[in-house]
Amino acid sequence: MVQGVHRKNFGRNQVLKPSAAYTPADEQEVLQILDRHRGQSIRAVGRLHSWSDAVLGDGVLLDLRRLNDVLLEPDGDQFVATVGAGCQIKRLLKELDRDGATLHSLGLITAQTIAGAISTGTHGSGRQSMSHYVVGVRLARYDASTGQAIIEELSAGEPLQAARCSLGSLGIILAVKLRCRAQYNVQEHFTESRRLSDVLDAEASFPLQQFYLVPWHWSYFSQHRREHDRPRSRLARLYRLYWLGVMDYGLHLPILFLERVLRSRRLVRFYFRRLVPVFLIRNWKVTDRSSSMLVMRHEAFRHIEIELFVLRDQLVDALGFAQEVIKVAGGRESALSADNQQRIEELGMQEALAELHDKYCHHYPICVRRVLPDDTLISMASGGEQDWYALSFISYARPARRAGFSLFASFMARSMSRLFHARPHWGKVCPLEADELTSLYPRFDDFRTVCNTLDPQGVFQNDWTAALLEADGHVGDIP
Ligand SMILES: Cc1cc2nc3c(=O)[nH]c(=O)nc-3n(C[C@H](O)[C@H](O)[C@H](O)COP(=O)(O)OP(=O)(O)OC[C@H]3O[C@@H](n4cnc5c(N)ncnc54)[C@H](O)[C@@H]3O)c2cc1C
Repeated sequence: MVQGVHRKNFGRNQVLKPSAAYTPADEQEVLQILDRHRGQSIRAVGRLHSWSDAVLGDGVLLDLRRLNDVLLEPDGDQFVATVGAGCQIKRLLKELDRDGATLHSLGLITAQTIAGAISTGTHGSGRQSMSHYVVGVRLARYDASTGQAIIEELSAGEPLQAARCSLGSLGIILAVKLRCRAQYNVQEHFTESRRLSDVLDAEASFPLQQFYLVPWHWSYFSQHRREHDRPRSRLARLYRLYWLGVMDYGLHLPILFLERVLRSRRLVRFYFRRLVPVFLIRNWKVTDRSSSMLVMRHEAFRHIEIELFVLRDQLVDALGFAQEVIKVAGGRESALSADNQQRIEELGMQEALAELHDKYCHHYPICVRRVLPDDTLISMASGGEQDWYALSFISYARPARRAGFSLFASFMARSMSRLFHARPHWGKVCPLEADELTSLYPRFDDFRTVCNTLDPQGVFQNDWTAALLEADGHVGDIP
């Protein structure tokens, strides 16, 4: 046990001050810790790659990194893996690859733990979130009648749907059982397009694609991706080097220099307008293993992010709105288009928009990923019959200089949640009040019921999740 040690998250926007912190070696030790601290507040964390309050906890903190075994079993023509909660995705991928298997869905990075990743609905593009593929969760919690710590398997019904994305609120996840599939190859190439309709039309041929709206250049760079049965390209290794050197570092280092050192908006705009397009090699088709192709070194440089999920039929308007707000925030325009200005006035947010004017120069491509509706109670892509699109807004400002980004993120979340029913990613910056957040999820009440059943004393909650569980948001239907 360690006392008095403070921990910070990846984004350096959250500080954890636990009263005691443990790194248990096995499940028995987790139960002993729970019994020792009965009645106290207890939370588990993964690798602290969340920016939201989901990671906070000032009571007893459990880090399950030593519970990281992987057991892969065949299941028809697929596989099921039982994975220790603290296993990082990168280790899991390596273990699976040894047996010719991989994950159905992957985020951009692999540093997260499996329990942390599913707990906030981590997703990639073109498939459901990782949570969707979870078929069982092994959970440590307290037995309501005896008060003793117990282990329970959640493998069906609403408890499983809740456990697939639970914000750490059901108890301590010990292991996750998830459906896996045979390893496969992905073919990728980049194109540039001025029209969003062209980008979206390409989804039929490239179901795994993601795309970027490049600020100040205002064109779309599409990463066309599809599953492919071709073998790994001869130039795949060179392509990986290109990604590492040019995209992961070459593109990012100037952003850091411009944003953190020069702090020149004019040069930021020039960089995106004139130089960023040069980094892109268009139409270079490369096939490589999915687990190499679908990820990048996005954790190489510290940043902060808000990501907003909208349904397909809101996407065009939502992206247009985002583009206009970025121009106002960057001081290039003083007002939105007449339609959007009217929408903002109807929301009574004119003052908030005026306050944002000229306060924040957006300096990163807006990544847009398609996430298929998933079978959970509260993941961002839960429910609805259309696909969801996640729009991410990233800032590389130093932690002490994020006031402009905070203003921007708060405006975007507040306006877009009301205009487009946009849901902020649970693991990223999440600047809405509890009742605003819960009102975006038609099944939040079901989630609350499962939490209250499994954790009636609320010992596994932090202030944020407790407020969510107590919130009285009026739930609207998914349009
Ligand atoms: C550089 C970067 C890139 C990212 N890319 C993506 C992306 O492409 N797609 C995407 O969707 N997200 C992405 N994220 C967000 C990230 O996937 C999530 O925030 C994820 O939850 C982080 O996992 P973690 O292991 O660090 O968990 P933490 O951040 O430590 O914890 C997240 C939540 O999980 C809970 N938790 C963790 N372990 C347990 C356990 N054993 N039992 C119970 N609860 C537990 C915690 O209490 C907390 O509520 C990215 C984040 C970063 C920093």
